Amino acid sequence: MMKPNMHYSELKDSYLFARIAEKTKAYLAEHPGAHLYRLGIGDVSLPLCDAVIRALHEAVDDQAERERFHGYMPECGAPFFREAIAKHYRRRGVRLSVDEVFVSSGTSDELGDILDLFDRESCALVIEPAYPAYVDANVIAGRRILHLPAGKENGFLPEPGENAKADLLYICSPNNPTGAVFSRELLQRWVDFANKNGSVILFDVAYEAFIEDPSLPRSIFEMEGAKTCAIEICSLSKTAGFTGTRLGYTVIPAALVRNGMSLHDMWVRNRTTKTNRVSYIIQKGGAAVFTPEGQREIMENIRVYKENARILTEAFDRLGFWYCGGKNAPYVWVKCPEGMGSWAFFDLLLNEIQVVGTPGEGFGACGEGYFRFSSFGSPEDTREAAQRMLRLFSKSITPPVRKD
Ligand code: PLP
Repeated sequence: MMKPNMHYSELKDSYLFARIAEKTKAYLAEHPGAHLYRLGIGDVSLPLCDAVIRALHEAVDDQAERERFHGYMPECGAPFFREAIAKHYRRRGVRLSVDEVFVSSGTSDELGDILDLFDRESCALVIEPAYPAYVDANVIAGRRILHLPAGKENGFLPEPGENAKADLLYICSPNNPTGAVFSRELLQRWVDFANKNGSVILFDVAYEAFIEDPSLPRSIFEMEGAKTCAIEICSLSKTAGFTGTRLGYTVIPAALVRNGMSLHDMWVRNRTTKTNRVSYIIQKGGAAVFTPEGQREIMENIRVYKENARILTEAFDRLGFWYCGGKNAPYVWVKCPEGMGSWAFFDLLLNEIQVVGTPGEGFGACGEGYFRFSSFGSPEDTREAAQRMLRLFSKSITPPVRKD
C-alpha cells in the first residue's frame, strides 16, 4: 500500500487564526452590529498603485495581439523583470548578475520549494517567535528543527553561538511577528558564523521596504561574505500590495556552493523541472514597481502603514508598555501589561474595547506574554484603537516603567 508522508501527522494545528476567528465570531454573535478594530491582519488594505495597474492593463492588451502575445515565460523569470530587480539592488549598492535573481510567485511558495535544495538529514534553525511556515515546511520535509528562543533581553535579536549551530539558518528581518530589525554588525556576525560552519542562511526580507533607517541592512548581500552563505527571499506582497496578485523574487548567488555543488545551478535545474512560473502579465506589473513612478507610489502606501505604526507606538510609549518594532517594520510587538498571558490580553482587548490583535504565543512558545499589533489596518480604525487602549489602560492598570 502507498505510504503517505507521515510527517504531516507531526504538524501542530495552525489554530492561531482559527481561534481568533472563532472568538471574534462569538463576540459579534453576542453583540450584533458591533464594530471591531482589527489590528491583527497580516494582509495589506490599500490597492495596487497606479503605475502597476497601468502596466497590468497594457500587458493584458499585449496578450490580445498576435505580435505582442506571450506564451510560456522563462522558468526562472522574464529577463525584463530580473533586470529590473538586479538594477534595484545596484542602486542600493549590491551588485548581482541578472541570472542570480529568480522570479517567484511569492515568499510562501518559495520558502517551501527552496527546501528541495537541502538534504533531508540536515538540521534547520528557527529563531522564535517566528513566521509559522518555517517550522511547518521543515516538519513536512521530515527535517530536524532547532528552536532558538529570542526574548526581551536581546530585543528579540539573538546572537549566533553554540546553540545555533545548524545547516539551515532562518533569519527574518524586519521580523514577523516582532518587528525587530537586525543591525549591520549583528547580521555580519551571523554571516561570519554561517561561513565558518558551512551553513546556509535563508534570509526572509518580506518587509525590507519598511526600513527607513539607512544604518540598517535591507539585504543580506550588503554584508561581506554573504554571497557564499546566503539565499535572500523577497516578495512584493507587503512592498507593493501584491498579496493577492502573487509575485516575489529570490536571490541565489553563483558563489553559493556546498559539497562542490552550486546551489544556484541546482535551483535553475529545479525551476526548469518543476515550474513554468509567473505569467507575463504579472511580471509586467511587477516591473512597474521598480520604475521611479512605481517606487514613489508604493512608498506613499507604505507611509500610510508607517503612520499607523507610529500612532500605535506613541500610545504604547504613553502607557509605558514595553515593545519592539513599529519603526522600520509594520508590526509592533508588545509585552502584555501586568504579566498577562497573550490570550488573556486578547480577550480583554476584544471584550472591553473591541480591538483585535494577534496573541504572541501563536508564533512559538517564547511568544507567550506578548502581543502583535499590525499596521496594515485602516488609519481610522488604528487611531480609534489607540485611543481606546489609552483610555482603558491609563485608568485600569498601573503602567510598568519602560526600561529602555
Ligand atoms: N515571510 C514572512 C515573514 C511573512 O510575514 C509573510 C506573510 O505574511 C510571508 C513570508 C509570505 O508572503 P507572500 O505573500 O509573499 O507569500
